[in-house]
Amino acid sequence: MLGQMMTQPLLISSLIKHAARYHGDTEIVSVETTGGIVRTTWQDVELGARQLASALAKFGLKPSDRCATLAWNNFRHLEIYFGTAGAGYVCHTINPRLFPEQLIYIMNHAEDQVLFFDRTFLPLVVKLKDHLPTIQSYILLGPQDDEAAAAVPGLKFYDEFKSDGDSGYQWPDMDENSASSLCYTSGTTGNPKGVLYSHRSTLLHSFAVCTPDGLAISARDTVLPVVPMFHVNAWGVPYAAAMVGARLVLPGPGLDGDSLIKLIDGEGVTVALGVPTIWQGLLNAAAKSDTKLASLQRTVVGGSACPPSTIAAFRDRYGVDTIHAWGMTETSPIGSANSLKHKHAVLPKDEQHKIRNTQGRPPFGVELRLTDDQRQTLPEDGHAQGDLSIRGHWIVDSYFKETPGSAKTGDWFLTGDVATIDPDGYIVIRDRSKDVIKSGGEWISSVELEGIAVGHPDLADAAVIGAKHEKWDERPVLIAVKAADKNPDEKSLLDFYNGKIAKWQIPDKVLFVDAIPRNATGKILKNKLRELYGDCLIG
Ligand code: AMP
Repeated sequence: MLGQMMTQPLLISSLIKHAARYHGDTEIVSVETTGGIVRTTWQDVELGARQLASALAKFGLKPSDRCATLAWNNFRHLEIYFGTAGAGYVCHTINPRLFPEQLIYIMNHAEDQVLFFDRTFLPLVVKLKDHLPTIQSYILLGPQDDEAAAAVPGLKFYDEFKSDGDSGYQWPDMDENSASSLCYTSGTTGNPKGVLYSHRSTLLHSFAVCTPDGLAISARDTVLPVVPMFHVNAWGVPYAAAMVGARLVLPGPGLDGDSLIKLIDGEGVTVALGVPTIWQGLLNAAAKSDTKLASLQRTVVGGSACPPSTIAAFRDRYGVDTIHAWGMTETSPIGSANSLKHKHAVLPKDEQHKIRNTQGRPPFGVELRLTDDQRQTLPEDGHAQGDLSIRGHWIVDSYFKETPGSAKTGDWFLTGDVATIDPDGYIVIRDRSKDVIKSGGEWISSVELEGIAVGHPDLADAAVIGAKHEKWDERPVLIAVKAADKNPDEKSLLDFYNGKIAKWQIPDKVLFVDAIPRNATGKILKNKLRELYGDCLIG
């Protein structure tokens, strides 16, 4: 017997319709690429999205055509998110920090039909355009601009293009499993792979984002996604914000500490989301200013392990709670988020803090497991380390243009991360499997060693790699960037590890460098560091 309840497809258009209808006057604050702030509302965004959808249909796009974006977090990008997917096209956000060859590969692989881009990326578009045969139209996100028009023949301008659209356009019905957006992984080896999200996966993910033990976004929040809209759909925040009618502050291109403080204080931001390096920048700038970050209640940190010292600084200096979350492009991205359980309330504060430093536990909708080299399930006892797998409603099944199920190992997606899981489901990401340091048959977590090092007051940044060692195979080496005007020596940095980890895990050596190389999403390029310094303990 079937249940007798209504069924409605889970569509992205229903999110923006809801936001416009029930939160129509809620503000969207947007920092323009060319400077200045534009204030619109969810109602304006929905109208703009419908006009854009209509203009794209008039332009001749067919269902599932890919619309690429090279853009910052701003209101036009938000309209594109909803206007393309709502109409049945696919919003393909592209990370402009990738190498030009990777950008060309991605856009050709996706067969993008139009490319929306911010003024910042004009020189990049000029460089790429002769290599992009599928693009029928380039659309600059802004008003008419003569210099840009001269640089890209046939260039269209978003504000004009959109105004050709019909404001009476109605969102079409479609299968909830239709493709809605596309992001490519920033893989360090081989070509990037496309992850093609569906309306259904996006809506179910949004529900998880909004739950109190997820990212807890609500209609009472002013949300600042510092995480770019080109990095896993800004962790799903634009959709989740529409689902609950949160006020949004879109920061545009200025992501330095001072600009963010100005926005947080000026706009009364309650929750801000970004990668750890962003928050280190903000905390450094905040320490030099007289801000109290008074409105800020929560930060959400993910993308790389958040150093415990960052979580402590937010908590102890500003009373800001940090939600440490883990995920991947392939997982939409939320795979886990950190909050305590009821039973933890009685624990002493330092026990609670230890739990809060972990990457948290999976929300309803996804499951995690650990396996060994033979793919046997490992115990979830907080000690056994193994390969982390995930499955659930918003996890990749196959990469774009690959055969169904091809991204899976059995029923699971093997993440490439090594983790522990405790009996309550809390995970600790120990490393990427290829970065774990294997010292005399024991594993050392480079992530843990980095997390401790960046807590040293005289360091600005740090990375740890396994360097080749004659006796132990590999030993950890700390690669450190000194903080401005500080001059720590090797001994003081190594002494800093005493009492924090087992003695045999303390790095053998410290190398000082000017900067740690990072990829397009801010992750440390360990391959590169191993290439440069992997032999520093031998010969
Ligand atoms: P991406 O697909 O570019 O978002 O990268 C996903 C990878 O980032 C994961 O497989 C992890 O290795 C890493 N990652 C994401 N969040 C965290 C976190 N909170 N702690 C440690 N590593 C993380």
